[in-house]
Amino acid sequence: MTHDVHIIGGGLAGSEAAWQLARRGIRVRLSEMRGTGERSPAHQTDDLAELVCSNSLRSDDSDNNAVGLLHEEMRRCGSLIMAAAETARVPAGSALAVDRAVFSREIEAALVAQSTLELVRERVDSLPAVGLTVVVTGPLTAEALAGSIGAATGADALAFFDAIAPIVYRESIDMDVAWMASRWDKGAEASLALGGDGRDYINCPMTRDQYLAFREEVLAGEKGEFKEWEANTPYFDGCMPIEVMAERGVDTLRFGPMKPVGLDNPHWATAEHPNGRWPHAVVQLRQDNVLGTLWNMVGFQTKLKYGEQQRIFRTIPGLENAEFARFGGLHRNTFLNSPTLLDRQLRLRSAPHVRFAGQITGCEGYVESAAVGLLAGIMAATELAGQTWEGPPRTTALGALLAHITGDAEAETYQPMNINFGLFPPLPDVKKKQRKQAYTARAKADLAPWSQNVQIFSGG
Ligand SMILES: Cc1cc2nc3c(=O)[nH]c(=O)nc-3n(C[C@H](O)[C@H](O)[C@H](O)COP(=O)(O)OP(=O)(O)OC[C@H]3O[C@@H](n4cnc5c(N)ncnc54)[C@H](O)[C@@H]3O)c2cc1C
Repeated sequence: MTHDVHIIGGGLAGSEAAWQLARRGIRVRLSEMRGTGERSPAHQTDDLAELVCSNSLRSDDSDNNAVGLLHEEMRRCGSLIMAAAETARVPAGSALAVDRAVFSREIEAALVAQSTLELVRERVDSLPAVGLTVVVTGPLTAEALAGSIGAATGADALAFFDAIAPIVYRESIDMDVAWMASRWDKGAEASLALGGDGRDYINCPMTRDQYLAFREEVLAGEKGEFKEWEANTPYFDGCMPIEVMAERGVDTLRFGPMKPVGLDNPHWATAEHPNGRWPHAVVQLRQDNVLGTLWNMVGFQTKLKYGEQQRIFRTIPGLENAEFARFGGLHRNTFLNSPTLLDRQLRLRSAPHVRFAGQITGCEGYVESAAVGLLAGIMAATELAGQTWEGPPRTTALGALLAHITGDAEAETYQPMNINFGLFPPLPDVKKKQRKQAYTARAKADLAPWSQNVQIFSGG
């Protein structure tokens, strides 16, 4: 069977993309390297859509939780991953957890039952020169293909490790303690050109005692282990975790990401120092999305466990009530600088017959990967049908995630991102307590016409 679309990778995203195409009668070649005797270091089976770690697809609460909302939106778009999860569901409170073997079996059975789909167990080593292609080879893309992607995109645009700094919701930062400023007030011109006012960073000040106590907490905090195949990488040279810096000496952090020089704290102004004083150390946060709702803690990549990050980072003045949209981390992870490389339809700008989806685009998590796979499948189907693509509304979880990956995220600091309410257009007039429900209600209402169109188009 010849094919209309070649999908490379039969993981979460590839399986969902293949389903969205095949159910619309489009001929698909789905290439999966597992089953040839080869596997990534994390995969343990040859099953399609293998869950490599946890068996949870996280919260299924579509009224109060962003990933729960994404579940609901995917269901409305006829998602195979969500249907299989329902069949394979095991009790887990409000979370959607699955029996992973049943989950994969359901997915593979549904796919091979499609007469227009051909599942081929093969490793693909280079990007096809022609023909509609969806690359969904995930965070552990096989080496030769990664080399080919690197050659097509430029070495700097393809990362092999993530170095994730925690991201904080802007509204949870106490600006009576923190303040806006750029170091030495530099870069005002560039800031103004981008709509800023020359004070681009949020700065959290520390006294000497606070800094010393903070360093002790970082040193003592419980850390996650590197996997065997992640150890001994050249990674640390460029992007050292804060705990490694803390170990190197009392002042290493203060000469690194917590450098206070050139930052007068106006909250500490006196008659003698009307502009304020430099703190002993400063934690800086930089805007992370166009909406200005998310701010990343600059240089704070870490292997501290999530609970420890929350506890320790809330000792930073100004972050006492910080809410985290994403915690820090360090993993082996192949991903593109999507905001610069991909267009709004996930196509490589330099080779638009190639789409990317799944975690390799810089989304993070099983559900997010499958959701981007779903979108890529529908996009390719729309393109083949000669129809104009209209993306999901920006106010939906699908729309928010897609917008982030394809241009709204800050390209310079782009790191993997899970779905969270910080990616949604803000609702400042709604009281904080009611905001989650307002986001989800708006998304569900706005998705309805779009998802109905998508279903009609599928003949479903
Ligand atoms: C160790 C680890 C643990 C994780 N734990 C979790 C977790 O607990 N919860 C969570 O939500 N997310 C987790 N993730 C993150 C992520 O969501 C998953 O990796 C997810 O599976 C990504 O989906 P994907 O479809 O993009 O990639 P994958 O599911 O990895 O699928 C990619 C597929 O492409 C195949 N492939 C690779 N190269 C080639 C090639 N050249 N030719 C043909 N086939 C190829 C692979 O064999 C694989 O089947 C984890 C990631 C890793 C690496």
